[in-house]
Amino acid sequence: MKWSLSAHRTFRRCQRQYYFGNIAANHRARDKIRKEAYLLRQMKQLSAWKGSIIHEGINKFVIPYLKEGRSIDWSVALSNTLDLASKQYHFSKAHKFRQPGITKSAYNGEYCILAEHERNQEIPEDILENIYEEIRTCFNNLSFQRELISFFEGHKSYYAEHFLSHSFDGVQIKAVPDLIFTRSHGSTSVVDWKIEQDYSHGDHRLQVALYAWVLLNKWDISNPDKIELYEAQLLEGNIIRHDFVPSMLEELEDFIFQSITEIRSLCGDHKYESQNLDDFQFAKSANTCAYCSFLRLCREVKKWEREPRHLIFLK
Ligand code: SF4
Repeated sequence: MKWSLSAHRTFRRCQRQYYFGNIAANHRARDKIRKEAYLLRQMKQLSAWKGSIIHEGINKFVIPYLKEGRSIDWSVALSNTLDLASKQYHFSKAHKFRQPGITKSAYNGEYCILAEHERNQEIPEDILENIYEEIRTCFNNLSFQRELISFFEGHKSYYAEHFLSHSFDGVQIKAVPDLIFTRSHGSTSVVDWKIEQDYSHGDHRLQVALYAWVLLNKWDISNPDKIELYEAQLLEGNIIRHDFVPSMLEELEDFIFQSITEIRSLCGDHKYESQNLDDFQFAKSANTCAYCSFLRLCREVKKWEREPRHLIFLK
């Protein structure tokens, strides 16, 4: 079992959604449900797609300037990001993700499944143009943060979307900060790029504490005071510093422990073969289903062939 804040949120939102995305999804499995769950897990609503393009654009076309110690050419970075968005849009529109032999790794960067295309709906031109405009706004806002950019520049090491994990109570705890860099006097700075309402979860303190907790456990950082966390709200052009409070660590471990216990009480060993989908509750809100990637699979799951769960029933 792997735990992350996002997995925790999914479990709370809908247990079936957790089942499809966190237990069933597997592209190597022969079971059709597992393959389909894996494909649908990549599907994005437009707002999530916009956020992922901005993250990817910064990661691919801005961070390399920092790593190479060059000043950032924002017009090139923006143009490359818009080009990436266009490629992903056309990949999705052409339904390439449903073509045999097309894999995410072979189409790295281009691979994209937009919910509208999967549901055979059109995306109106003006909505698409609005998305491109918001991407421009985010890049412009970031480029105008001269003080922040100079704070980012000139450091020895940068880690973009670096996978951090630490074992706790037999579970792998995962966190992927958008950017980490170390400063000459030994401080470690963590930055999260935030787009519009995706910072509304209200658990920034937990997110901050989780990054700090993993860093303290996995990196050679002895002093928690040396960890700084910044949230860059790109559409508004705001930068917020969240101070890490060491006393949060105990609260965080309690929180993770309770969440793991809750998930284990339903999912046991977390193996696909051990689960019965009927044990997993439906979402309480119809609105959750309206935006759920697994909607069709969830409704039609009984029609899908399923591999025999031989091992569990032979015991
Ligand atoms: S469609 Fe609704 S009940 Fe089914 S997995 Fe999605 S959110 Fe849960």
